Amino acid sequence: MITDAKRTEPRAWLSEVASVALVQSVQDAHRAYRNFFDSLSGKRRGRRVGRPRFKSRKDGRQSFRLTRNGFRLRPGGRLFLAKIGDVAVRWSRDLPGEPSSATIIREPDGRYYASFVVEIAPTPLPPVEREAGVDLGITRLATIACTAGTRRDVVNPQYLARAHRKLVRTRRALARKARDSNNRAKARRTVAVQHGKVARARRDFHHKQALRLVRDNQAVYVENLDIAGMVRNRRLARAVHDAGWGGFVQLLKRKAERHGRTVHVVSRWLPSSKTCSACGHRMESMPLKIRQWTCPGCLSVHDRDHNAALNILAAGRAERSNACGAQVRPPLGVAQGVETGSTPDTAQPCGNPHPSGRRARQMVTNNEAESRYEVHVDGKLAGFLEYRDVAGVLALVHTEVDEAYAGQGFGAQLAKYALDDVLARDVKISPLCPFVAKYIDKHPEYRVTVR
Ligand SMILES: [Zn+2]
Repeated sequence: MITDAKRTEPRAWLSEVASVALVQSVQDAHRAYRNFFDSLSGKRRGRRVGRPRFKSRKDGRQSFRLTRNGFRLRPGGRLFLAKIGDVAVRWSRDLPGEPSSATIIREPDGRYYASFVVEIAPTPLPPVEREAGVDLGITRLATIACTAGTRRDVVNPQYLARAHRKLVRTRRALARKARDSNNRAKARRTVAVQHGKVARARRDFHHKQALRLVRDNQAVYVENLDIAGMVRNRRLARAVHDAGWGGFVQLLKRKAERHGRTVHVVSRWLPSSKTCSACGHRMESMPLKIRQWTCPGCLSVHDRDHNAALNILAAGRAERSNACGAQVRPPLGVAQGVETGSTPDTAQPCGNPHPSGRRARQMVTNNEAESRYEVHVDGKLAGFLEYRDVAGVLALVHTEVDEAYAGQGFGAQLAKYALDDVLARDVKISPLCPFVAKYIDKHPEYRVTVR
């Protein structure tokens, strides 16, 4: 398609740019249309995806992407770009590996950036006991409640608010400049430079805070904020945007994945501000201006945000322990890899797929293609235990049992099978999944497998 287009006169300019960049653009368009149609048909959940639009040539931010054939790293720190040639680069840091693609971006402030995609091996941190609930806010970016009973506040630096007066002044100067004049272009760049500074300062701050949270806690719980919905409230919009919650949570998730920690988003309708974290009493209303309140049920005095963080911590732990199968019953003593029957008296009547007592066929296997141990009941996947090979150590990352099979000991079966397998193969493990860690505590014969 691209080759045909290049032959026509109005599209001849396509030959002037790298062909890999064109291929990437076509792929992006393809994905945008697929998302759009999937969203229309309901196949894609979440917010509605709009019809793909062309990007304006006048847009201050422009970019193109090159895959492996389109760029090369030259000795001496120079970067070769197809159809452009060697360019000098000021590197912000060393690349941690071989990049698979490079995106060249021109920001509205007129600077060019190169952004690389590099696969990096996860670097799990040693497990810690502590977990944290995080309440995101505007007066403080985050109020953190920990299982250790401690509390930590993260200030909200409000970079945009602080730069606001300066921005208003430069914007006004911009508005006074004649259209299409050089001075107007210059003034526009000044505004963009200031916005760029705000964005970079905010991002840097988020990186540091996210890393600290992930390093100090095995699991971090956050509320599912309907950020888009909040931003629709115009009085709060600028403050919410300035705090940048969405970007902060994304960073948290990425860092957690890299370091073998967990970020769990608690369901959206948690009334975290209105509920007393000490006794569970729920207040009728809790206007935003109230920063401190006394619970009529138990007379506890609460800081609004810290109380919310405690509720998020408790709700998150409850949700995740269910998902992680930590509430499964004692193991059924199933031998590994063989089919066994579950008798009606060991299975719970509620949610049991075989209330008649018919013998269910279950099997635990190591699905190496998916990097997980799986338990199947009557041919259906009932649960799995995910692992990752990190430099010869098997990190047992996460255990999950399908809701329909909860409470029947499948989590324990998975843990037992995995640990027996590990013992037989004489490899060491890192029990990142709290359920597996607990299982090993209860079954000390498996302690030798822990690195
Ligand atoms: Zn109370």
